Order: sequence, then C-alpha cells, then structure tokens
Amino acid sequence: MTDRITRLNTTQSDFDSALAQLLAWDDSVDHQVNESVRHILHEVKTRGDAAVLEFTAKFDRLDVGSMAELEMDKSRLQAALDRIPQDQREGLEKAAERIRDYHERQNQQSWQYQDEDGTVLGQKVTPLDRAGLYVPGGKAAYPSSVLMNAIPAKVAGVSEVIMVVPTPDGVVNDMVLAAAAIAGVDRVFTIGGAQAVAALAYGTDTVPSVDKIVGPGNIFVATAKREVFGVVGIDMIAGPSEILVICDGKTDPDWIAMDLFSQAEHDEQAQSILVSPDADFLDAVEASINNLLPTMEREEIIRTSMLGRGALIQVADLKEAAEVSNRIAPEHLELSVEDPQAMLDDIRHAGAIFMGRHTAEALGDYCAGPNHVLPTSGTARFSSPLGVYDFQKRSSLIGFTAQGADRMGRVASVLARGEGLTAHARSAEYRINE
Ligand code: NAD
Repeated sequence: MTDRITRLNTTQSDFDSALAQLLAWDDSVDHQVNESVRHILHEVKTRGDAAVLEFTAKFDRLDVGSMAELEMDKSRLQAALDRIPQDQREGLEKAAERIRDYHERQNQQSWQYQDEDGTVLGQKVTPLDRAGLYVPGGKAAYPSSVLMNAIPAKVAGVSEVIMVVPTPDGVVNDMVLAAAAIAGVDRVFTIGGAQAVAALAYGTDTVPSVDKIVGPGNIFVATAKREVFGVVGIDMIAGPSEILVICDGKTDPDWIAMDLFSQAEHDEQAQSILVSPDADFLDAVEASINNLLPTMEREEIIRTSMLGRGALIQVADLKEAAEVSNRIAPEHLELSVEDPQAMLDDIRHAGAIFMGRHTAEALGDYCAGPNHVLPTSGTARFSSPLGVYDFQKRSSLIGFTAQGADRMGRVASVLARGEGLTAHARSAEYRINE
C-alpha cells in the first residue's frame, strides 16, 4: 500500500490495465470457512433445533435450554419500540414510511389479454408464502437493514416474514427489535450465522422453513446462503461496498471527501472513487481527505480502504466520466454536477444514482426511500436493487378456446413430431377438429 491515494488519468497509456487492477478484489474462497459451514448446515438439517442450540451456545455464547427461549414474541418487539428514545423512534418511523411509499410503486399487477381466437394469455403475480430475513448482529446492529429487507416483503404481500438476528452473549439491540415491530415482521429468532440460515432453509421443529432468504451477513452467512441456494431462493451475495462520485469540480471538496469516506468506513475492502475533469479539484479533494481523515472515528478502516482501493480519476469531460462509470458499474453513483438529469442518458450501469450536489449517498442508506441493498462488484450490469419484485413470482396463464386449440394444435403437432415427442403431438391433435 502507498501513502497517497491512487491517481489515474484516462490519457495514460496503461489506463485500462490500471483500472482493471483497481477493481480487482480479494474474493478468494476460504476452504476452512466452506468446510465449517457445510458441517453446520448438515448438523442443522439432520438434528434440527438441538444443533441450532449447540451452535448458538458455541458461537454466540448464548446457552439456553430450548428454542422457545430464542424466539422474541411480538410484545417484546413492541416493548423495544416503546423503550427507545423518541428521536430514534421518529427516525425509524419516518424512514419506514418513505421506504413503504417508494416500494408500493414497485408492486406488480397480474395481467391478461385475449388473442384473435379468444384464447386467454397472461401472467399471475403472487407473493412468496414465507421469507426469511437475516439481520447481522455479530459486531454491530443494523436496524436500517431490517426496514430495507422486511418492508418490500410486506408490500409484496408475503404472508410471513421470519427474522433471525444473532444476539452475542444474549445482548439484544432495541433499535433492531423496534425496526422489526415497525416493519411488521411476524416472528423473530435470536439466532445467527450459518445455523440460522440452515434453520430457515431446511426448517426445524421450531423455525419454519422459508421460500427465500434475504439480507446481508459475514462470510459464514454468505457462504451458507450460497450453499442452500436451490433449496430456497436467495437475494444476492454482496461484495464490499462501493461509491463512485462524478463531480464537475464545483462542489465543496469536503463534501465529496466525506461522501467517499461514507462507504470507505464500511470495511477495508470498500471502494471509493472520484472522477472529475478538473485536476485542481482532484487536488483539493485529496487535501480534504488528508485533513478530515484524522477526525474520523473509523480512521484506520477508511485509510486502508482509501489508500488500498480508492482512486481519483481525471477524465477529459463529463461524457468520458460517464463512460468510466459505466465500465465500473458502481453500487452507488453520485452525480455531483450542475445538471444531473442531463447526464442520466449517458449512465447505463449503476445500483443507485444520486443526483445533484445535495444528494449525499448516506441519505439513501437510511431514509430516502429506495432500497439500500444494491448490486456490487460490477453486477449492476445485469442486476437491480432489492425490491418488491424479489418477493413476488409470476405464473404464466394460458386458456385456449376450441378454435384456438384447433389452430395452434396443428402448429404444436408439427413441432412435437419434429422433436420426436409423440405424446405431445397426440395430446395436441386430440383437440384438433377433424
Ligand atoms: P453476522 O450476524 O453476519 O455474523 C455473526 C455470526 O457469525 C455469529 O452468530 C456466528 O454464528 C457466526 N460466526 C462467527 N464466527 C464463526 C466461526 N468461527 N465459525 C462459524 N460461525 C461463526 O454479523 P457480523 O459478523 O457483524 O457481520 C455482519 C456483516 O454484514 C459485515 O460484513 C457487514 O459489513 C455486513 N453488512 C452488509 C450490509 C449491506 O447492505 N451490504 C449491511 C449491513 C451489514
């Protein structure tokens, strides 16, 4: 690691390889983690609650006699909501209201139409029956994750949202429980790690099996989600957080430095990149970074992230800035420019786009309304933020009239015989008028 943040310029001859090197990150699979997760999954699958209790005692130092003791009933969620300071309650309620309003607009409707034979075709949209929500709790608490994952599920019409959250040493976080109460979570178990993922995927006598598991977590949680995919659906496997800021050079450099820090403080592998056509502005932001860094609580994490994976990239103009951003396909993209709407047409790949100088990415993390669970590591090229659509599925609807069965039966018969599938062909032919 150097002691200056990486500086790149699109005019340099090795820009492509320098950019590729910047974007590479350590996603190597840890075989020891894999092995231990597989063991945990197997034990929970075969021994159910007993195994969950043992792993909870071992990893979270929470030793109780029965699974019933690891369920928080709704009165305890409500009590936490009543107990937290008023400003926290109002903050959670305001954020929840905006997240709900936004996601209600994503709700998909079933649709049908008739073709010229009166044949009905369409799509029926149905919510999942049960969703499992993993809320991390090993080292920190994430009430915002509760809202961002549970509210879209509820808006989608999921009948039962089951939340799991580890409570190391039995210490519960009131804001997490309060957020669960506000979001309308149906059941909460204080279990975590791979054992919680296994319980949700396979079901135990106490924990019901779900159809899909969503929510972030550490390496044990992510590996377990990858392993149970297929038994249940999963949302995504998230990589380190990222922010890319495009600035025309006219925003306060301190604002931009702090926006870069806001992702860098997540972890050492987080990536914060500034792209600007203004070389003097890049210098000014670098000076702000150096000035502000010692004032940060998470100074060391930010420093490691900024020096290891951060960069200041000089481009010819805003058009080229958009091209660089499209190549990176960042999780968060800030357009800190005079006319962000005018730039939108040039932006093709980004998890969330924050438009204008006053739109700090941090607002999106908590209370703007859109989801903060976003595609990372360039996957915004082909995937979208977590949304109501992740908790709904679609069934095709097909209803032939006699006339339609006659006309399309002839087509099906030809194609089926061409494939050598006689039963298919005859099944269609029975319904032809001859
Ligand atoms: P966690 O709940 O993900 O993990 C804690 C659990 O890990 C424990 O309950 C335990 O069962 C298991 N565990 C710990 N050590 C183990 C071991 N040696 N063997 C087997 N299991 C073990 O909480 P965390 O550790 O605080 O991690 C949270 C993660 O979630 C962080 O990486 C954070 O960055 C990430 N996060 C991401 C987002 C996002 O939106 N992308 C949001 C919040 C948190």
